[in-house]
Order: sequence, then structure tokens, then C-alpha cells
Amino acid sequence: MRASGAPVAPFLAPRYNPSGMTDPAAPTPARSLFLPDEAATERLGVSLAAILMPRDLVALSGDLGAGKTCLARAVIASLMGGPEEVPSPTFTLVQTYETPKGPLWHFDLYRLSAPDEVWELGLEEALAEGISLVEWPERLGNLLPATRLDIMLRFADAPGARHADMVGHGAWAARIDRIAA
Ligand code: ADP
Ligand code: MG
Repeated sequence: MRASGAPVAPFLAPRYNPSGMTDPAAPTPARSLFLPDEAATERLGVSLAAILMPRDLVALSGDLGAGKTCLARAVIASLMGGPEEVPSPTFTLVQTYETPKGPLWHFDLYRLSAPDEVWELGLEEALAEGISLVEWPERLGNLLPATRLDIMLRFADAPGARHADMVGHGAWAARIDRIAA
């Protein structure tokens, strides 16, 4: 709150933030990457793996076949340090891995019929101590954690190409620039 002096110009006010605290009015940082082929998606996964830490949640959204599992596989294989059998959790809804950075939980919530069911899959433990990769995060409704990295995969015009639109929420806002293209 400004006690005196001229008012801050209205168009600047939302970003006037000398305290350094997160300003809810400030735009959420976003980046869009063009992924010309599957190898580019895999490189994004490797780059993401390098900065992931326990308690991180990455929400992977996009249509069927957009590449969510492909990206998750690349993250997991990179963390495990070699080619790894990474089955899609389409039917099991969750697969867990013991990585050198701690446990990783790969969720595919497409078949979740109600957000509440996610507790049975171990979401609480995943959020408390693991890295969580979540396909179909919209199935969580209000249970989707506010602090997260959103990666939305979209089909591009060229066959085999995708766009990855990334939005960093909360602490991710300051980290999103570290993800290499
Ligand atoms: P989702 O989990 O989003 O349903 P998948 O990762 O299982 O999608 O499947 C993506 C499919 O698209 C795979 O068959 C993959 O080989 C293919 N593909 C083609 N180009 C790309 C790309 N640039 N990135 C990711 N997958 C791609
Ligand atoms: Mg999938």
C-alpha cells in the first residue's frame, strides 16, 4: 500500500512489486517450444529431468497421441540413466520408479472416474516426497496442486511435429527459463 505520493500509473500497478513476493496480478510466465520431431520431444524430457527435484509436479496435458507418455518416458529414462522399460500407466493409472533423485510417480488419470480416487493411487505420498508426472491432470479438478509446471502438447501442422506450451505456476515461475529448447 502506498501511503503518499502520486499514484502508480494504472498500467504499471499490477507489476509494482518491490517486496519480491509473488504478485497474483502479474502474468504467469509462459513459454512455447516447437518440437519438429519425436527426438525434440525426447530432448525436452532430458532437459526437464535435469532440473526436476523431489516434490515437483509436472502436469502433461494434450489430446490422445499428443506425446505426453513419450515426454514422460524421456524424463524417466534420463533420470534412470539409461534405456528403461517405461510402460504407459494407461491401465494401471500409476507407475513408480526409484530414481537417483528419489521416487518418481507417473500417473495417467484418463480412467479416473472421480478426483477423490487419486488418493488410493498414492498422490499424497507422491506430492510429499516424489517427482510427479501427471497425464490428464484435468481429471484432478480442485485437487490439482497450485504449484506446478503445466506442459500442454499440441499437434503442429507438419506430421511428427508438436508444440509444447509451458506455464510455470508458483515456484515454477522462476524455473521455467531453465528448460532448454
Ligand atoms: P499420449 O500419451 O499423449 O496419448 P503418446 O506419447 O503415447 O501420446 O504417443 C505419441 C505418439 O506420437 C507416439 O506414437 C509417437 O511415436 C508419436 N510422435 C510423433 N511425433 C512426436 C513428437 N514430436 N513428440 C512426441 N510423440 C510423437
Ligand atoms: Mg499417454
